[in-house]
Amino acid sequence: MIHSSLTQLGAALRAKKISSVELTQSYLDRINQLNPQLNAFITLNPEMSLAQAREADTRFASGKVGALTGIPIAQKDIFCAKGWLTTCGSKMLHNFVSPYDAHVISQFNNAGAVNLGKTNMDEFAMGSSNETSHYGAVKNPWDTARVPGGSSGGTAAAVAARLCAAATGTDTGGSIRQPAALCGISGLKPTYGVVSRYGMIAFASSLDQAGPMGRNAEDLALMMNVMAGFDERDSTSLQRDKEDYTRDLNKPLTGLRIGLPKEFFAEGMGADVAKAVEAAIAEYKKLGAVIVDISLPNSKLSVPVYYVLAPAEASSNLSRFDGVRYGYRAPEYGDLADMYEKSRAQGFGAEVKRRIMIGTYVLSHGYYDAYYLQAQKIRRLIAQDFTEAYKQCDVIMGPTSPSTAFQLGEKGDDPVQMYLSDIYTIAVNLAGLPGMSIPCGFGANDMPVGLQIIGNYFDEARMLNVAHQFQLATDWHSRAPKL
Ligand code: GLN
Repeated sequence: MIHSSLTQLGAALRAKKISSVELTQSYLDRINQLNPQLNAFITLNPEMSLAQAREADTRFASGKVGALTGIPIAQKDIFCAKGWLTTCGSKMLHNFVSPYDAHVISQFNNAGAVNLGKTNMDEFAMGSSNETSHYGAVKNPWDTARVPGGSSGGTAAAVAARLCAAATGTDTGGSIRQPAALCGISGLKPTYGVVSRYGMIAFASSLDQAGPMGRNAEDLALMMNVMAGFDERDSTSLQRDKEDYTRDLNKPLTGLRIGLPKEFFAEGMGADVAKAVEAAIAEYKKLGAVIVDISLPNSKLSVPVYYVLAPAEASSNLSRFDGVRYGYRAPEYGDLADMYEKSRAQGFGAEVKRRIMIGTYVLSHGYYDAYYLQAQKIRRLIAQDFTEAYKQCDVIMGPTSPSTAFQLGEKGDDPVQMYLSDIYTIAVNLAGLPGMSIPCGFGANDMPVGLQIIGNYFDEARMLNVAHQFQLATDWHSRAPKL
C-alpha cells in the first residue's frame, strides 16, 4: 500500500479495500518506525489525523467523495493549520498553535484529505539543505549522512521514504524543486498567484508559492486540482477559471519544442548530473520532441538579485515576530526595546538573522537605489529573457540542481556555496513562472538526479503532461530508497 500512487489509493478507498482509518494508521506506524532516523516530521497529532480519517470514512458511506478523500497528506510546517502546532522550523514559533487554517489547508480539508502531520523545514524556509531547522536537520532517506535539500526537505524525505502518500511544499527560490531532485521525487512550483498564500507564513512575498510534492506527475496534477484556485484573502491570488490539471496528461509529445538554455549546460553542473539530464533529453527525443537551443543571458544574475530581494522582503515580513503577540518571548528582559531585542536574538537562528541584516541593509536610506532598485530592474530583464525564449520553444529543460545531495555539514560554513545550490531554480521564481523537478536517474554515490522542466505562465497542465509521458516511458520515479 505504501508504494501506491494517489490514484491507486483513491481507488482502493472507494472500493472499500481499505478504510481511511486503516491507511492513516499504517502511515503513522511507518512514521513511528522511521522518523527517528529521518527527522522528516516536526509535529504529529494522531488523534486529529485519525478523527479526519473517521470523517472521511463516513463520507465514503454517503458517496460525497473526491480524488483525495481519505488520503493522508503531510503538510509543510509553514502552513497554518487550526489546532496544530505551526513552527515554520523556528524556535520563534515553538509554541504557536494556529487559530485558523491556511487556504491550502482548508482546500485539502474540504477535499476530505487527512492531515498526517507537519513536516520539517529550514527555519522560515531559508536554506537549501534543511540544516537550519530549529528542530534539527532532516536526513536524506537514500543516504542518511546526506542532506535532503531544502527548504521543503522534510516533505521530500517523507515522500521518498513513503511516510506519506504526498505532501505540500513551498518554493521561494527552489525549495520544492531542489529537495525533490535530491530525494528522487516529483515536485511542482506553480505560476506565482495560482495557489493562495493566505495562512502560509511569509518569507519573500513576491516570490513565495506553494505547490505539491509527490511520487509522480499524475499525483501532482490531482493535488493541484485541490490546491489551485482564487482566494480573495491573498491580494496576489489570480482570478482564473478552475482548471483540471489532469486533462492533458495523456497527450503525445510529438513536435514538443524543448528549449535548452546554454547557460544551464555550462560550467558548474556536475558531470554525473549532466549525464543523467542528457539521457533524459534523449528519451524526450524518442518521444517525439524536438530540441531548440536557447539563451537566458541574464540568468547568471539570478543568485545575486535573489539575495538582495528575498532578504529585503524577509526583513520586512519577519518584523512581526517581536515577542509581543505570539511566539517566543525572552524569559528575562528590561524595558520594551530590550524585550524585542532579546526575544529576536534568542528566537531566530543564524541564517534568519543573516537575512534580516542583509535585507535591512539593502533597504536602508542611501543603499536602496544601489541595491534594491537595481535588483528589481534586473529581475525584469531575467523575466524578459524567458518571454523571448518562449517564442521559440514550449518548455525549457535543464538540471534542477548542479549536484546530487551533499553531505550533512558540508556547506554549513559557507553560505555562498549553499546559495549556489539554487543557481538553476531561482530565475523561475524571479520571473513568476511555473517550474518542476522529476527524477531522471542517479549520479555520484547513487544519489538521485532531478530534471527541471520550466513552463510558460499558466502552462502547468502541459508541464504535467510532459512529465507524465516521461514517467510512462521510464521508471526512475518508482525507485524507492531501502529503509
Ligand atoms: N534556498 C533558497 C533560500 O535559501 C530558497 C529557499 C526557498 O525556496 N524557500 O532562500
